[in-house]
Amino acid sequence: MSVPNPELILPDYDGGSIVNVAASVLDAFGVAAPVAPLRPDLLPVGGLAGSGGTVLLVFDALGAAQLDTALATDRIPQLAGLVERAPLGLQHITSIFPSTTTAALNSLATACPPAEHGILGHMLWFEEIRSVVNMLTLCPIGTTKPIHEDVVRRVPTIYQRLAAARVPSTLISDRAFEGTPFTNLLAEGARFAGYHGLSQISYQLELALQAASKPAFYSLYWPLIDTLSHFHGPDHRETPSAACQLEMEFIDLMVGKVAELCARHGCTLAVIADHGQTRLQPERAVEFSAEFRVALGRVPAGASRAPYLAGVDVDRVRAEPGLVDTVQVAIATDDAVAAGWFGGACDGLTSRIGDTIVLARDGVQFLYDYGRGTFAFSGSHSGMTSQEMLVPLIVVPGN
Ligand SMILES: [Zn+2]
Repeated sequence: MSVPNPELILPDYDGGSIVNVAASVLDAFGVAAPVAPLRPDLLPVGGLAGSGGTVLLVFDALGAAQLDTALATDRIPQLAGLVERAPLGLQHITSIFPSTTTAALNSLATACPPAEHGILGHMLWFEEIRSVVNMLTLCPIGTTKPIHEDVVRRVPTIYQRLAAARVPSTLISDRAFEGTPFTNLLAEGARFAGYHGLSQISYQLELALQAASKPAFYSLYWPLIDTLSHFHGPDHRETPSAACQLEMEFIDLMVGKVAELCARHGCTLAVIADHGQTRLQPERAVEFSAEFRVALGRVPAGASRAPYLAGVDVDRVRAEPGLVDTVQVAIATDDAVAAGWFGGACDGLTSRIGDTIVLARDGVQFLYDYGRGTFAFSGSHSGMTSQEMLVPLIVVPGN
């Protein structure tokens, strides 16, 4: 068994996580959800309902730490105004484990924890095809041909649940993602409205609101704080990031326009992120030794901040000289599941993970060459530090 680590922020699946936000969306339209909605101290019962419906604005990787840092400047007046107008102000909820987009967006799309929707990591072993599959492209490692999303799909989306209750949904996301197997998985049951640039988010929302004949659900997704944080580092008080600060100013302009539309159409607006990011030191990037790679039963799954290893147990990881100062936690998969990391028993799914889960220490990333070389990032996520796990929740009710 592992020793509990006080530095870890575990997912608060019991009413304080992004999974519960999705359940609150269903609750706003009177549709039964697979998990409980947000706890009343985070959101009053039915608190996402609005006469025009609900707008959920999801910023990829805008963790609570990064938003707090931006709010401490005068660079994002629209977001600061939203916090002032929100009856409960700016609150913090948790991401899921792993704190990574593929898993987290599926939790937002399904109101299910990873243990139920089955996207247990960025890369996963699929016993059926005996291969590690990248869950963003759905391509097995070493190939460019994706597996069909039906192999992965296990639960209905919230859009499908809403549609069954005759509530229409619109997903406003990057047009480049349209029609990919991953987007098909996420968007099932929603109308997809693609954008080419940031300004089109509010434009597409306005078109959708003008066309609506009844209260509806609108899900908006903006990916680039994640991208910029990977390359330039997230903007945190102790480690500023000029690139992310500039991006926040552009985002703030869009937020103002979205908020104005929500006010005009009676929509409740909720602003969240799927996960945060922690600053990495590229010089502390670690590659597994040749001997350790031989011990692994197959290429690692998971991600650079939380690799999933088959063929080695916790003791073998701890005995590896090159990992002594870089591993925050090494835990048997069964122990992590039992400790609730994935929000359930992962019935029939633990083979997707392997034997041992490793979490990287602050500043550390594990690199593995899957055939296209390696690149050390300045920021990343998928671990359980507060910067990766805590995300904002701002809710401004519609009338
Ligand atoms: Zn990312």
